[in-house]
Amino acid sequence: MTAVELRRRGLSVTILDRGEPGREASWAGGGILSPLLPWDYPDPVNVLALAGMERYPRLAEELLAETGIDPELRPSGMLVLPSFDQPRAEAWRERFDFAMDKCLSRDKLSELAQDMESLWLPQVNQVRNPRLLHALRRWLEQKGVGIVAAAPVERLEATHGRVDAVVTPQGNFAVANVIVTAGAWSRELLGKQALGLNIWPVRGQMLLFKASQPRFSPVLIKNGIYFVPRDDGHILVGSTLEEAGFDKSTTQEARDHLYREAASLLPFLAATPLVRHWAGLRPGSPGNIPTIDRHPQISNLYLNSGHFRYGVTMAPASAQLLADLLLGTPPSLDPTPYRWPN
Ligand SMILES: Cc1cc2nc3c(=O)[nH]c(=O)nc-3n(C[C@H](O)[C@H](O)[C@H](O)COP(=O)(O)OP(=O)(O)OC[C@H]3O[C@@H](n4cnc5c(N)ncnc54)[C@H](O)[C@@H]3O)c2cc1C
Repeated sequence: MTAVELRRRGLSVTILDRGEPGREASWAGGGILSPLLPWDYPDPVNVLALAGMERYPRLAEELLAETGIDPELRPSGMLVLPSFDQPRAEAWRERFDFAMDKCLSRDKLSELAQDMESLWLPQVNQVRNPRLLHALRRWLEQKGVGIVAAAPVERLEATHGRVDAVVTPQGNFAVANVIVTAGAWSRELLGKQALGLNIWPVRGQMLLFKASQPRFSPVLIKNGIYFVPRDDGHILVGSTLEEAGFDKSTTQEARDHLYREAASLLPFLAATPLVRHWAGLRPGSPGNIPTIDRHPQISNLYLNSGHFRYGVTMAPASAQLLADLLLGTPPSLDPTPYRWPN
């Protein structure tokens, strides 16, 4: 998304990725375009998330029109089932002027979860990650952005406060500016140049069910477990929050836990084929607040990383802020909360 924003503003961009771009956390996620319980997060998370949410409908339309790939942005809304902190939720709604209704979930879920007091957030959309990533990639290729796969960045060569070259096994790349967007791996990539940056991997496991037809339309969340229904009957159930270093394997324990929770809220899932189980590594950060900034000592080095649980939601606004900082245009958001810690 950072490359999209920079290309839109007329810059020449090359993406270097260790593997295939768009196959890590951004692929693994649920595609919910909102924090799960937004009132549990500090303002800088909500400000960036809301700005990202606002930009998605236009972005999805543009991607579909220009690439022919539909990222499946859907106005599914999100139903938060009890228990949750009602007064905090109410205070958050007033503060951010976000549409939110108290409703009986019966209205939205019919037989699935009757008689439970819940909160209905109609403005929450969802997107289908793999399709969004395909559309972004095609858009970038159409606009002449170079994409170099299998090019792990080994180090950044800097002299006199500037990066001169990005070193990979495929050769050295000369650069005008470098933006590190390496997710959970950003701190390791930067090495000593990371300074006080604190980004670490947080594993999330997901289950995917496939019903023969769509069974419900809103994103559901209950007790930290969420359900994301896709148009074609797929239902994602996620996710775990695990500190397991850079280990991306799945575990029987997480599978059992998610399965139990899923079938207890939506009993029909026990009779629905479970078709996939995967894990991704989120770029964890203190307070879930990403760093979007220029390096304090290296004038042509930037970072856009540490979006933790909400990087897909935040991406369009985060990319816009990064581009503002790089190009010296008035920032679309107050950049202060997203400064590089040194
Ligand atoms: C299970 C799960 C569910 C989630 N659900 C949601 C959700 O519903 N909504 C939401 O908004 N967010 C969600 N997230 C969070 C979101 O996916 C992340 O915050 C976001 O994808 C981070 O994007 P990123 O580009 O920084 O990292 P990534 O998508 O991980 O991309 C990092 C890239 O850097 C590359 N790389 C790493 N090291 C190097 C190197 N040395 N050289 C070159 N390239 C390198 C990797 O190959 C990768 O392609 C979820 C995440 C997970 C794991």
